[in-house]
Amino acid sequence: MSVLVFAENWEGKFKKSTFEAVSYAHAIAKQLSTGTVALAIGPVNEEDLKNLGKYGADKVISVRQEQLNNFDAQGFSSVIIQAAQKEAATVVVISYTYTGKNISGRVAAGMKAGLVAGTTALPSAISPFTVRKKCFSGKALTDVVVSSETKVLALTPNSFSVVSMEGSAIVESFDPKFKEGAFRTRVKEVKKNSDKVVLTEAELVVSAGRGMKGPENWGMIEDLANQLGAGLACSKPVADMDWRPHHEHVGQTGITIGPNLYVAIGISGAIQHLAGVSSSKVIVVINSDPEAPFFKAADYGVVGDAFEVVPRLIAAVKNFKAGHS
Ligand SMILES: Cc1cc2nc3c(=O)[nH]c(=O)nc-3n(C[C@H](O)[C@H](O)[C@H](O)COP(=O)(O)OP(=O)(O)OC[C@H]3O[C@@H](n4cnc5c(N)ncnc54)[C@H](O)[C@@H]3O)c2cc1C
Repeated sequence: MSVLVFAENWEGKFKKSTFEAVSYAHAIAKQLSTGTVALAIGPVNEEDLKNLGKYGADKVISVRQEQLNNFDAQGFSSVIIQAAQKEAATVVVISYTYTGKNISGRVAAGMKAGLVAGTTALPSAISPFTVRKKCFSGKALTDVVVSSETKVLALTPNSFSVVSMEGSAIVESFDPKFKEGAFRTRVKEVKKNSDKVVLTEAELVVSAGRGMKGPENWGMIEDLANQLGAGLACSKPVADMDWRPHHEHVGQTGITIGPNLYVAIGISGAIQHLAGVSSSKVIVVINSDPEAPFFKAADYGVVGDAFEVVPRLIAAVKNFKAGHS
């Protein structure tokens, strides 16, 4: 018996959500009095594999096959299922990232396992196995009882804190087998969005909404984000209107983030938006309407016109930085 966690990496580097998932898997393994095995697919260096021990992995199995160099939902799901069988895993943990959303259902179906998509906490009971997840866009919580022998838990990023400890994991390589025709897609080209701060990993995020009136006004939002070293986000209508790219859209139908600081400018604070940002530690809202719902979720609020407030904020940040350089 073991708990298997899929340790997702991006171009050979583990993400913050991976450390959260490993920490989460380790905590469940402790509840079940068993070990934690992490699975890494792709070219991650030996030191980084061993370092997963610092988040609770006892062992890391490393899969390096050329056909898995690019993400392939069928291929990756098959590797996870084979690894789970090899390690006699009763719980499989996957981070509920874009990749996790793509594969967790496939893995659960392939293993005839119950799936809890978007868990936010450790199981509250082991027998019956009961896990909490958000529902209704984060407005409510539900406790799900999983009765299947094997369980797949897809952990919402930024909902479980990374736990660091002493340790180094044992690294083993693994050579999964695939049936003829298992890979049905072929990556021809990879185009990167940008080299800017990755939103899900960002400690600071500056976000703006329809209150900015048009894409031509994003210069000052980008300037503020650059000054703070923050990631850029936006509300859904802004992405729908092509003012900003869709990968910046946060909320129920977009990305879930949990930065230390979230600055929301000209965003009303609809429930669907809050669903993706409510785990932020400190929320600052800038809105001209004192009745904007976002103020109820804010730690700090500025009632004012963004076109006056943001330039003053940028000047204040520049002044502050000049005084500390
Ligand atoms: C199924 C479903 C899923 C959805 N998923 C998402 C999602 O994932 N993410 C998301 O964001 N939305 C989502 N939405 C849409 C959501 O309901 C809201 O419509 C949306 O969040 C509103 O975007 P907004 O706040 O940018 O625009 P608005 O609601 O138009 O708000 C603009 C705000 O800007 C303020 N403002 C105007 N001018 C200024 C100024 N000069 N200075 C300062 N403030 C100003 C206004 O007072 C207002 O509060 C979803 C909706 C549905 C039905």
